[in-house]
Amino acid sequence: MGSHRVDETAAAPAGAPMVGRLAIIGIGLIGSSIARAARQHGLASSIAIADASPAAMAEASRLGLGDSCGTDAAEAATDADLVILCVPVGAMGQVGAAIAGALKPGAIVSDVGSVKGSVVAQLGPHLPEGVHLVPAHPVAGTENSGPGAGFASLFHNRWCIITPPEGADPQAVETLRAFWAGMGANVETMSPERHDLVLAVTSHLPHLIAYNIVGTAADLEQVTRSEVIKFSAGGFRDFTRIAASDPTMWRDIFLNNKDAVLEMIGRFNEDLAALARAIRWGDGDALFELFTRTRAIRRGIIDSGQETAEADFGRRHDDDATA
Ligand code: NAP
Repeated sequence: MGSHRVDETAAAPAGAPMVGRLAIIGIGLIGSSIARAARQHGLASSIAIADASPAAMAEASRLGLGDSCGTDAAEAATDADLVILCVPVGAMGQVGAAIAGALKPGAIVSDVGSVKGSVVAQLGPHLPEGVHLVPAHPVAGTENSGPGAGFASLFHNRWCIITPPEGADPQAVETLRAFWAGMGANVETMSPERHDLVLAVTSHLPHLIAYNIVGTAADLEQVTRSEVIKFSAGGFRDFTRIAASDPTMWRDIFLNNKDAVLEMIGRFNEDLAALARAIRWGDGDALFELFTRTRAIRRGIIDSGQETAEADFGRRHDDDATA
């Protein structure tokens, strides 16, 4: 991701901001990246920040991420035109209840949660008449957390999926679409149910596999832990990056996308059993055919600009240290 970063001190473009007061609740990796990107692109006339963690608030203040910083979500949401909840999925309902009374008519409430059906169910009942709920999920991130982990170009050329509930106000949906496009994201719209199924395959299952394989390797008795670390470049190392992702965030994702994830685990187990059978019976053709198909999938991801074509994820090696 580092190679995508751009100058965060660049001046905001001239012209009227897209939204007036922007409130960001939760100033971790995603919230602080939105604050930086909105500032850089001149998308809001002011930015109010709230986070339950006094330590995160102190760091956000020090980094100058907002015009105001505090621990009271309702205070940040007061008079806001756009409120974006950037807290773990399991905390969405609690924050919705806390800000409901402070929202002005016409305000847009959005979020960045990695699960959408559950967020709509948690937030919807709290929002007063005349407030527009337009959930979203930027499919961008790193394994790091906290206000210092964010950067303005995180969403650049990444997808943001907007999941408007049925009957959502078209103008509110358009404002949110333009806001994400203004931060450099490619925006796609789909239903919350479709989102949760798609992300179960592309994100949630891979994370579960990574957590599992790193846990298994750490528990193995025949191979010592020092050997696991020493020879990690054999493949294990790349799983450890994903398995270093925030425990609270991922606990909430699995608990809130239970059905889709369990469905995908079932499919995965069946396919794994077929692979085990192919290995046991020496069916090299089956293995070769699968590995050829999967190589083509990686090619497709590179061709679509979502990954570097450089070998070994573009890691620097000793013989190219002068680059
Ligand atoms: P993060 O870096 O851990 O930041 C979350 C912040 O929210 C923390 O400062 C946390 O404080 C605070 N918080 C927790 N509960 C709160 C509450 N009830 N009221 C106010 N603040 C609260 O997390 P993140 O990675 O930015 O993730 C935020 C959201 O983005 C999650 O819903 C996640 O699913 C989604 N998302 C993440 C990624 C990613 O790659 N990280 C990508 C796309 C979407 P404490 O630390 O004290 O709990």
